[in-house]
Amino acid sequence: MEPAYDHRRLGRELELFGTDPLMGAGLPYWLPDGAVVRHALEEYLRDVERSAGYRHVYSPVLGKRELYEISGHWEHYRDDMFPPMEVGAEEVVLRPSLCPHHALIYRARARSYRELPLRIAELGAMYRAELSGVLGGLTRVRGIQLNDGHVFCTGEQAVDEAGAALEMIRRAYADLGISAARYRLSLPGAGDKGGKYVDDERLWRRATALLRDVLDAAGVAYEAVEGEAAFYGPKVDVQVVDAAGREATLSTVQIDFYQPERFGLQYVGADGGKHRPVMVHRSVIGSAERAVAQLIEVHGGAFPVWLAPVQLVVMPVVEAQRGWAEEVVRRALGRGVRAEVAGAEQGSLGARIRAARYVPYQVVVGEREVQDEAVSLRLRDGRRWGASARTTWWTGSSPGSRLAAPRCGNPRRVARVGRGRTGPVRRAPREGAPRERSAHPGDHRLRHRRRRRPCPAVRRTAPGDRPARRHLRRREHRRGRRRTEHAHRAGAGGRR
Ligand SMILES: [Zn+2]
Repeated sequence: MEPAYDHRRLGRELELFGTDPLMGAGLPYWLPDGAVVRHALEEYLRDVERSAGYRHVYSPVLGKRELYEISGHWEHYRDDMFPPMEVGAEEVVLRPSLCPHHALIYRARARSYRELPLRIAELGAMYRAELSGVLGGLTRVRGIQLNDGHVFCTGEQAVDEAGAALEMIRRAYADLGISAARYRLSLPGAGDKGGKYVDDERLWRRATALLRDVLDAAGVAYEAVEGEAAFYGPKVDVQVVDAAGREATLSTVQIDFYQPERFGLQYVGADGGKHRPVMVHRSVIGSAERAVAQLIEVHGGAFPVWLAPVQLVVMPVVEAQRGWAEEVVRRALGRGVRAEVAGAEQGSLGARIRAARYVPYQVVVGEREVQDEAVSLRLRDGRRWGASARTTWWTGSSPGSRLAAPRCGNPRRVARVGRGRTGPVRRAPREGAPRERSAHPGDHRLRHRRRRRPCPAVRRTAPGDRPARRHLRRREHRRGRRRTEHAHRAGAGGRR
């Protein structure tokens, strides 16, 4: 029997992704609504990584066979790789990982100890030649969009960098509503070395000791499991459980001495001599595929507002009210809110409300709303906010685009659209309606942000200051603040 929240079933029902035998097994495509979820997730990750000091790069999905011979993939990982393609005298391979490309980017010029730790990240495609029998949904795929990052650092910095990566993972899980089932220290299998794993006892011991330090410093319980390491080193795996109770690795942190050696990576130390950096590999949410599958199951399709494909659906009761419904949608779209009209052609109002049960905010437009140019906002769990609130918010100074930011899951934001009569009228949740899951650790910050406290700089008026000048100064100040808001929205995901 299929579990209640199987991501494959919900993915079909919500039209998030699909597959076609002609495209091939394990190669899902993303439908528009699924693409919105993935895009919001990617934006979130880039923000988180940027604020953690990562710089983003792009690198190609193909590489010469020689590249993977140097990295060790060809020797230890070939069974999982697609066969090479001959192009003239060259052989190119669909990449099985991003690490070798990032090592080459590091090596592109001489590096000084002053540049370390050098953190680079990429959301890039990689391919794995899984057998067709095991493929399905978004979790067993051949084409993977990997959320990858590499920190090149000194040996002394490695534990701190790996620890910071682990902390990023924990924060991301809290933001996304995902919980880790357990932490695993993945070690090579006894007697496997030389085949599946690089044969260098000293390297394994050193990296394993450092990862144990990282886990101890983070204060998380973990278990060591043999036979699950990467071929080049041990790793910390963050395990999650899917709706069917199957465990899988979502995130990972690794300390690697092997690839820097193989690629001859160097930096010039404070002593003027050449030294070998350490590579910390980390993935915050694994792949876009696996992360979205997990999110679908965790939220049962009712995504938090910032991830929801459609955030607001506007429903005119009858066709005559369509004009105002379209105007509301137009204004919402203009403010960056993902909104659409569900008109009477889609069935009765009850049927439309039911069809919109995964949409966080719903507006029903009746005769009164048209007359008052007002909206009546309702949440997907049946609660109603600020009945007939005036819609001055659409043109107000609070851009709805912040709804798209991860920390904006707060219904109060949208309800505060109108000033005045807000405050929820609580109703029993409708039968079968998904539970409101937008509660978010950052919600309280929003309320603070909304409160327009006059800034001390404005209040401080010099004695004898003429009113006209005071006014001008206020205007200047407002402009400055608006500029800062823009910069924040552009840079730090709407966080202030
Ligand atoms: Zn890597």
